[in-house]
Amino acid sequence: MSGIILKTREEIELMRESALIVSKTLGMLASEIKPGVTTLKLDTLAYEFIKEQGAEPGFLGLYDFPNTLCMSPNAQVVHGIPNETPLEEGDIISIDCGALKNGFYGDHAYTFAVGDIDTDTKKLLRITKESLYEGINAFRLNNRIGDLGYAIQYHCEKEGYGVVRELVGHGLGETMHEAPEVPNYGKRGRGKKFLNGMVLAIEPMINLGTHRIKQLKDGWTILTADGKPSAHFEHNVALIDGNPELLSTFEYIYKALGISSEEEIPFRSHPLVL
Ligand code: MG
Ligand code: MG
Repeated sequence: MSGIILKTREEIELMRESALIVSKTLGMLASEIKPGVTTLKLDTLAYEFIKEQGAEPGFLGLYDFPNTLCMSPNAQVVHGIPNETPLEEGDIISIDCGALKNGFYGDHAYTFAVGDIDTDTKKLLRITKESLYEGINAFRLNNRIGDLGYAIQYHCEKEGYGVVRELVGHGLGETMHEAPEVPNYGKRGRGKKFLNGMVLAIEPMINLGTHRIKQLKDGWTILTADGKPSAHFEHNVALIDGNPELLSTFEYIYKALGISSEEEIPFRSHPLVL
C-alpha cells in the first residue's frame, strides 16, 4: 500500500477553493510587505483575511505551530515564527500559508523582496521559482517522483545552489501532509509513478550557499548552516488527464506588485479569472 489518496474531480475543485484562499492571502500580503512592517503584523492580517474567506488558518495549531504564517526571512529556510522584528530594506521574506475549507487544505509559499535586494539574491529567487515550474512540468502521468526531484535539483545545482534535503514537498488533501513525500532532488526514472487524481504541494527550498541547514532552539525555525539566504516557492498541483493543473496561483501577488507573467499558463486548462 502506497498510502497515496487519489482525489476525484469534485474533491479537486474543493481543493482549488482552499488553494485560492491561500493565493488571495499572499496577494493581500504582497501590498503590505515593506520596510518597517513586522512579521507578526502580517500574521495578524493573514489570520483575519483567512477567517473572512470562511476558512481556517491551516498552520495555526498544526503540530502545535503557534501562528497563521510561517515567516522565514533571509537565511531562514522555512518554519520561522512571526515576531516583532521589523523587515528592512534589502531583506527577503519567505511566507508559507495554509488554509482549511470544506475539509481540504491549501498550502503554498512565496519569497518576497523587501524593497531593493542585491543581485545575487534576486537571481536566487528567480532560479528557485523557475525550478518550481521545472518540477511541475515533470508531474505528468507515468513520470516518477525522481523525475520531478531531478528537474528541480538540476535547475538549481547548475547555478551552484544548495538543494535542501531534509525538507520535502508532499501530497495534500484532507490532511496537510499526505503521501507521497516529494523531494526536491532525485534520480530520473526512480520512485513512485504519478497517477491521475494525485494532488501535490511542490515546494523547492533552495539555498544560495550550502544545502546544509540547522534548527533554532525554538524547535521550529530552519536556517542555512552558512548564514546565506534561502528561497522557497510552493504551488498546489493536481494531475488531471495526465497533465499538471495548477490549483494555486501567484497572480494575486503579481497583480498587487504590478508584475506581468505568463509562467502559469502552461499549467492551466482554463484561463484564470481573478
Ligand atoms: Mg507550505
Ligand atoms: Mg507544503
